Amino acid sequence: MWIIIAFFLFLLAGIIILLPFFRPFAPVEPDDAVDPKLLALYTRRDQLYQAIREAKFDLDTGKLSPEDYERQITRLKRQAASVLKAIDKREANLVPPEWNEQIEEQVRAERRGRTAARPVMVTAPAAAAGAPQVRYCPQCGARLKPGDRFCPACGARVH
Ligand SMILES: [Zn+2]
Repeated sequence: MWIIIAFFLFLLAGIIILLPFFRPFAPVEPDDAVDPKLLALYTRRDQLYQAIREAKFDLDTGKLSPEDYERQITRLKRQAASVLKAIDKREANLVPPEWNEQIEEQVRAERRGRTAARPVMVTAPAAAAGAPQVRYCPQCGARLKPGDRFCPACGARVH
């Protein structure tokens, strides 16, 4: 009896120890999936924003003269603008062009499938009901009755 309990305790301990190894890999951190250059740009942007805030603080506390502040801010804003532009460009490239193509191809295929399916849906019940096929005279275009061999309007022979 005790041997069985000891065996199960041993088994339980083994499972607890080995469990982490059987766990699926930890999900990828979202940041790992992001372009590292883009992350660097985000960091640079934040640094520039911080520098702009600090320059404003230095102006307010008198550490910077208004002229120096103006010069610094102009430079920082120009740098920030170019960083923001680079971020926009990289973010636009996040979706690979071939994905866009695949998505468009799927949309086109779906559209084709829908238009192709519609006539089948419409004609299927009529055919199933055995509705007589409407015929028209090849000469004058008059509507023919099902058993007509000659056009009732122009007298042309019809099949
Ligand atoms: Zn006719």
